[in-house]
Amino acid sequence: MDLVDHLNALRTERNRAAHGDRPQSAGESTLRVAETRPHLEQALIKAKFLTQLPWLLTISCSYQPRSHTFDVIAHDVMGDHPDFERREFTWPNPVANDVFYILSPEGPVSLSPFVASLFCPQCQQMEVCYATRTAKNSGPAILKSFARGHAVHSSNLGDEIRSLPQGSAQ
Ligand SMILES: [Zn+2]
Repeated sequence: MDLVDHLNALRTERNRAAHGDRPQSAGESTLRVAETRPHLEQALIKAKFLTQLPWLLTISCSYQPRSHTFDVIAHDVMGDHPDFERREFTWPNPVANDVFYILSPEGPVSLSPFVASLFCPQCQQMEVCYATRTAKNSGPAILKSFARGHAVHSSNLGDEIRSLPQGSAQ
């Protein structure tokens, strides 16, 4: 089984519980935990490579006509929020501004619409948020801040999530 199989097993269990199929007895709970725990452990082990990949929040991207490359300035999101350090890169392809990317060995990979920097009305400042849910046909996506779990709504990200290929937004 690969990482996605383990995550799918955890998602299936999560959906069972969310849709009323919770364990009804201590024995059933024990059995479900025994079935689910190996998936959680394997998912953590197989996702460990992610700890080696830095997260960036792009600030600007400008084309350099002479070298046909893009000069990118980004916050290194691994430091203490909100005092992220700035880093500069030269990349062969453009990136969007104010978007989170994972810097993989093959280059930047966008984390939008799953992670976003949004203004939190409760904290009155920008917060790093992850998508939790969105309605099927219209309306904003609901994201939560990593730091405090505050809910933040985003109309743009709602549309972006709905435009994902079918099966990816489940
Ligand atoms: Zn907040």
